[in-house]
Amino acid sequence: MRRFAALSEPGPGVSRLAYTRLERQAHDLFASLLADLGIASYTDAAGNTIGELAPDAEPRPGAIGTGSHLDSVPHGGAYDGTVGVVAALAVAAAASAGRPRHRPWRFVAFAAEEGARFGQACNGSRIVAGLTGAADLRQLTDRTGTTMAAAMTECGLAPERVETARWDPRDWRAFVELHIEQGTVLEHRRVPVGVVDTVSGSTRLRVCLTGVASHTGGTPMENRRDALAAAAECVLDCERLAVAAADVNTRITVGALTVEPGAITIIPGRVVFTVDVRETDYGRQRAAAHAVGQRCRTVAARRGVDVEVEELADTPPVVLSREVAAAARAAATALGLPAEVLASGASHDTQQISRLMPAGIVFVPSRGGLSHSPGEFSTADQIAAGAAVLLETMYRLDATA
Ligand SMILES: [Zn+2]
Repeated sequence: MRRFAALSEPGPGVSRLAYTRLERQAHDLFASLLADLGIASYTDAAGNTIGELAPDAEPRPGAIGTGSHLDSVPHGGAYDGTVGVVAALAVAAAASAGRPRHRPWRFVAFAAEEGARFGQACNGSRIVAGLTGAADLRQLTDRTGTTMAAAMTECGLAPERVETARWDPRDWRAFVELHIEQGTVLEHRRVPVGVVDTVSGSTRLRVCLTGVASHTGGTPMENRRDALAAAAECVLDCERLAVAAADVNTRITVGALTVEPGAITIIPGRVVFTVDVRETDYGRQRAAAHAVGQRCRTVAARRGVDVEVEELADTPPVVLSREVAAAARAAATALGLPAEVLASGASHDTQQISRLMPAGIVFVPSRGGLSHSPGEFSTADQIAAGAAVLLETMYRLDATA
């Protein structure tokens, strides 16, 4: 808990955005906490900080890794990401004086996991997986127009050399991340451990409705082409589509909406809103995104409003390693802790790492399911139980052929 308190400063609300001085300070602290355990670490060109504990028994090739991220969304919580880094430190402390290990164990704090600043999530892990390169970093910008490359340079990193940060899959055996659930499944079922089998994909749409802006007093109700009234119907239709879906993992959200001109005496002429469609099955994900577009067109046609539906991004769901999930379930059983297999609605660094090697995620409960909010909370006992499962999972993966 001492390490958690240090890494979650100043808490409980945390604004430690990607590629800022505050994020780099947290990485420096991670490196010094590893050094306290006698573990040397380095920071790569992308800003990921990686420490390694050498094997102390007959060596086998391929490292076992664990870790998470230290950045947050604006006004986020102290637990998202940080819990996984603290658990990695707890594993490092227990392993350096524990049972024999045949493989190198690596402890990782990924850089820039949150997409809140630059629109792209999991940047550090995408770079090590070869999914994001130097050219991409010059394209991505934050709200103020600063490119990701410029922000990285400002932090002393080397965006032009990020290709040097790529991981070689032959150098690895498996990766497992501990993370807070950011949902309510574990809390409702009173289960201390979640083992993730699938990470939801996400299709992101931007819908633009154009009606006619006019005087609120002078324009009779039957002659209006009100873009906001149309948008309101579309938003409720998105919710209805998700609620009516056969699968509990179908989630459709309108998270941002702008109204123009946005005045009390003017009928809204233009509304732009975003739709985020999350699914654990790619066929259903595409069908749901298609259905959202159809509903918006139907509503717009009925109300005499023009509509444009644009696809901003499309990421398919990721099925994680069955081998790592089985090791995590066996670890929980060995420790007498009930575990539940579940899907992750949020994206995580490990879904990028899973392109390189067998990879898995272990969840601990989140109080009230709250996340990306200062209200994030998991008890010290819940985190300790998760870290114990993580350690045991790593020993089991270490022992594999
Ligand atoms: Zn996270």
